[in-house]
Amino acid sequence: MLSKCANPGCAATFLYLHQGKLFRLDTSIAVVASTSAAETKKPSRRIEFFWLCHPCAAELTLGYKRETGITVVPLPKALARAQTA
Ligand SMILES: [Zn+2]
Repeated sequence: MLSKCANPGCAATFLYLHQGKLFRLDTSIAVVASTSAAETKKPSRRIEFFWLCHPCAAELTLGYKRETGITVVPLPKALARAQTA
């Protein structure tokens, strides 16, 4: 799961911990939403790790959307910069 950059459009591979940004996300919400009725009785907490390479981490962060689950989203400050530019 942690073999490449979380940005689907980026091919950077995960090599060194000190490069880019590591995210630790609790994906229990996504798990509950996607499991069957029997399994939702006992939702399991799942901690997943995601990694963004350095160039992507400068522009992106990770967020959760009900439709797609964990997804990459622009950093708020990157958005603000785009709007004022
Ligand atoms: Zn990347």
